[in-house]
Amino acid sequence: MKTVKSLLVAMMLIPATVLLMNNCTKDNETMAATDEASVEKVLYAEDSLILQQKCDSLPYEDLNPEEVNALILMREEELLAHDVYTGLSAVYQIPVFTFISRSELQHATAIQRLLQKYELPDPAENHVAGVFTSNELQTLYTSLMEQGSASLIAALTVGATIEDLDIKDLMDLSEVADNQDILWVFANLTKGSRNHLRSFSKLLTRNGVSYAPQFISEELYLQIVNSPHERGPVRP
Ligand code: ZN
Ligand code: ZN
Repeated sequence: MKTVKSLLVAMMLIPATVLLMNNCTKDNETMAATDEASVEKVLYAEDSLILQQKCDSLPYEDLNPEEVNALILMREEELLAHDVYTGLSAVYQIPVFTFISRSELQHATAIQRLLQKYELPDPAENHVAGVFTSNELQTLYTSLMEQGSASLIAALTVGATIEDLDIKDLMDLSEVADNQDILWVFANLTKGSRNHLRSFSKLLTRNGVSYAPQFISEELYLQIVNSPHERGPVRP
């Protein structure tokens, strides 16, 4: 959870960057946002099938304690992404937040399916939007929503930041997991996050803002955003 703490610090640095670089018109913002939403809409439909079918077909294997913690953390981290994007979609009338928030719910449901498969308690049983069992995620949610409410650019930066964090956490947690189903779900959630990062980064670029990665390396970030959206399932 160290990364969540450092995110809280990092979020405080965002407004200055954003104010300096925002120089685009509202029309351009809306047009670009619609393009990205169309891409996310197609990917959402594909991932729905990918995540549903595969999780159940892979074998049940013993869990190590790191895998248990990873599933509990990611269940709520995916819901945090969902809740933030849903909240921001109510503030900014651009479709990209709506489609990505649906995708996050899909991610959260994929983790929930693993929790059920392994008969683990769900930290988000009876989840209420914006309310988390993890204190750190709770603080992070409040901070991100506050930050994202400032402007559309700030909201898109919040989006890029969440995806940056998710990629880092999913990659780290994949290092300590060895069950095929967990690795498979994490690999495909990471792919989803890379696609979301591409969308947010592209929208920021079109608004004259260059996102600086806070969790993954600059090298990995550039490799992701300079490659096209990924289609279909990925192997761990
Ligand atoms: Zn996700
Ligand atoms: Zn995402």
